[in-house]
This record gives sequence, structure tokens and C-alpha cells, in this order.
Amino acid sequence: MPRAAYREVYEGAVYMHQGRTYLVKALDLSTKIAYCQEADLKYYTKTRDYTDIHVIGGDLAYPAKVPEIHHLKTTAQAHNCKVTTNWFGFYRIWRGSNQIFDAVDLSLPKYSYESQAVWIRVPQSIKTAVLLQKLCFRAGLHAASHALLNVVPMYIMCNSSDLGSECANPHDTRYIPERILLYDRHPGGIGISAQVRPLFRELLSTALEILTTCCCSSDAGCPNCIQSLSCGEYNEVLDKNAAIMILKGVIDAETSHFEMESGVL
Ligand SMILES: [Zn+2]
Ligand SMILES: [Zn+2]
Repeated sequence: MPRAAYREVYEGAVYMHQGRTYLVKALDLSTKIAYCQEADLKYYTKTRDYTDIHVIGGDLAYPAKVPEIHHLKTTAQAHNCKVTTNWFGFYRIWRGSNQIFDAVDLSLPKYSYESQAVWIRVPQSIKTAVLLQKLCFRAGLHAASHALLNVVPMYIMCNSSDLGSECANPHDTRYIPERILLYDRHPGGIGISAQVRPLFRELLSTALEILTTCCCSSDAGCPNCIQSLSCGEYNEVLDKNAAIMILKGVIDAETSHFEMESGVL
């Protein structure tokens, strides 16, 4: 059993397999064997976890062979990173009403691997502007990162599930870095981050266009714009309007950075 399977298999988990429902009775961490029993249950379970991305820095060993002349310049960077997931519990949720009726704590080993990430800094002034509008900056960053994840497969041969983003957790109020970051979910990385880097400004613009033209009306967006099927936090804590402000702000910051550099201003 790969350690990433903790997301689905842990003591007390309701596990669906080929249309059947099983209750995980025990998980032996030393042998990595889960003991399950078929069960007819009126509830399902959802893990509570968070994933931290630590950017290690240094250039990637195999930079992408994309002639940058064809692309807009960008301040986005691609680096090695360490991805660490902590599973700290799970919810029991009634089928039908989707109401949480129990929260259980778990103690499982952290799951960690090295990979690659591509990211861009979000200037402090944008955070301030978002907060002034009384919008949630974390939810905006989360939504903007998802929007980017959703557009990557339009440019690069991959699935949006090959990449992950930093996903805001409703139970976690720790500091999150002011950046839009996508990381490779394959341990070791398969080179997507390096391919994404030179395209970053185009991805930001396309994501912004989708967000501003998508006709869904709620802050939580829809799978066409800011929701992601591979979200580790079940698409909670999303804000479409804050994401629009962040994407616009980062694109403007990129434009003025390169105008200054070329002496236009
Ligand atoms: Zn939408
Ligand atoms: Zn997410």
C-alpha cells in the first residue's frame, strides 16, 4: 500500500471499491495491510489533512527546452520542493444530507516526498487591496491556484491531476506564503513545472479570462473556473472575486516589472 493511500484507508474509514462499501477495521502500519469488512452504512468519511510545500530552491536539473522567445517574460520560478502531507483526522458524514456528525482524530505518519514546483510571488499590495474589499485572501489564492491548474492542460500534455496547488484548509489558520504555486504530484517530478514556467503569464491571462466570463454566480465558483477535482481540501475556502483581483494584480505587476526593466517607464 503506498503511503499516499492514507487519504482513503485508515482505521474507521468507509472505503468504496467496485461499487461495494467497506469499513476499515484496522490498519497495520508496519505491514501496510488494511483489514476491511463489507458494511452497509448510512455515512461516509472524509479525511482532514493539510499539505505543505517547502520550496528548496536551486535550478532544476533538466530545464525545459522551450524557446522563451516565443513566450512573454515572467518572474515565475521553477524549483525543487518538498511536499509533506499530514493526516490529522477524519469526519463521519451522513449520506443524503451531507451533514458532518462526528470528528475523529487520527495519528498517522507524515507522508513526504521531493518534487518540483513552479510559482510566482503575489505582491503585498494585492493582499492589502483584497483585504480592504473585505474578501478572504487565502480563499482568493486557493481559487486563483485552482484556476491556473485547470488551464495548464490547454497548453501542456498532462492532466490537471498531475499537478497540485497549495489548498487552503478551513480548520487551519497558519500563515500561508503569498504566492501562486503549482507542484508536481509525482514524487521526483515529471518535468511539468519546468514546462509551465515560461508559459506562466499566458496561463494567468487565460485563467483570468475564464474567471471573468464564467457565468456561475457563487463565490465558490464551479468546476469550469475555480473548482478542482484534485483539490485536497474538497474545494472549501474558495473566493472567485478575490481570485480575480489577485490574478489581475499579478499580471499588472508582471507587466510593470518588465516595462521598468526595458526602460519603457
Ligand atoms: Zn464558474
Ligand atoms: Zn484546492
